[in-house]
Amino acid sequence: MPKNIVVTPPDVCTLCPRRCKADRAAGQCGFCGAGNTLKVARAALHFWEEPCISGTKGSGTVFFSGCTLKCCFCQNYPISAEGLGKEITVEHLAEIFLNLQAQGAHNINLVTPGQWRPWIIAALDLARAQGLHLPIVCNTGGYETVESVAAWRGSIDIWLADLKYVSAALSAELSAAPDYFAQARPAIEAMMAQAGHPVFDAEGILQKGVILRHLALPGHMDDSFAVLDQMAAWNEADPGCFLPSVMSQYTPFYKAAEHGIGRRITTYEYRRVVNYAMDKGLTMGYMQQKSSAKEEYTPSFDLTGV
Ligand code: SF4
Repeated sequence: MPKNIVVTPPDVCTLCPRRCKADRAAGQCGFCGAGNTLKVARAALHFWEEPCISGTKGSGTVFFSGCTLKCCFCQNYPISAEGLGKEITVEHLAEIFLNLQAQGAHNINLVTPGQWRPWIIAALDLARAQGLHLPIVCNTGGYETVESVAAWRGSIDIWLADLKYVSAALSAELSAAPDYFAQARPAIEAMMAQAGHPVFDAEGILQKGVILRHLALPGHMDDSFAVLDQMAAWNEADPGCFLPSVMSQYTPFYKAAEHGIGRRITTYEYRRVVNYAMDKGLTMGYMQQKSSAKEEYTPSFDLTGV
């Protein structure tokens, strides 16, 4: 495998909607915590995504350090907010992708990759030249620019995107992003235009398309309804253009209690959100068993596989 692929870090970073203009080339870290050297926290097969992603053999999941959102309830906060990770080269990342493929992964699942996009695209190109052939999943919180979605074209097959909020006040309070919905809506529309309708292989494993996730939060059913209204509008305009996934696994990690969401959702709340989705015609997708709200479903963060 060729060595010494050099990626020039942005000197005025605008990779995400923060557009914080960090001089990452000079070693400055942006709002997301990312600097000038690629950092990865975990790489392993993961079995708890939607069934069309995890299948029977697992999703080849790679967790990238840092995050452009600052969700107070992040279940991965040691990685997203506290900088856990190991600095690696582009060549090493390509080897990680190929190792996951050799382990039998159905796909390569890039978790929160946006702040490292130039490095990851270089690693994907390198790994493909070495035989990587799996679908590539971009697992994102939905806080993306349209320009970033366009820049991933040709590298990403599946968008596994959150639509977390509609309310600007709520997204400001919980994720430090008052413009969350204003950014996510056009970005998700760009993802759907790019990936097209979902396509599955003979075993029911997703090969291309968009999954839109919504994590129901305790005490915020009204905003969940607003999110589902938006999803329903997309689905009515182009039936089946994405797969909805309504999630119950919220667990009050990190600083959640300081922001008024220090409990799990009740069965009543989750049922109401799911029923609302069904009433709106969002029937071809996924919902979770309430038992998914267990901390053991959160992988441990110990630099596995890096
Ligand atoms: S990716 Fe990070 S450094 Fe770049 S604009 Fe966003 S927050 Fe700033």
